[in-house]
Amino acid sequence: MTTCDYGHEVDTDVRTLPIGVDGNILICENHYKKEMKFRRSYPRSFKSVRDFPKFASLKIYGGKQS
Ligand SMILES: [Zn+2]
Repeated sequence: MTTCDYGHEVDTDVRTLPIGVDGNILICENHYKKEMKFRRSYPRSFKSVRDFPKFASLKIYGGKQS
């Protein structure tokens, strides 16, 4: 179990999303989509959504590592 930064536990992957000067947030796929949608509504306030990597290419937080 890992915790999404939106405040709930998830049993799937939580990934590290770099959001610039504010650092990183840990996010589940569902909230990744919401975050991108939110940022798309404020294109002048945030860096372009196009500049974010796809969820699938984000680093898995606490992922299994050898
Ligand atoms: Zn979430």
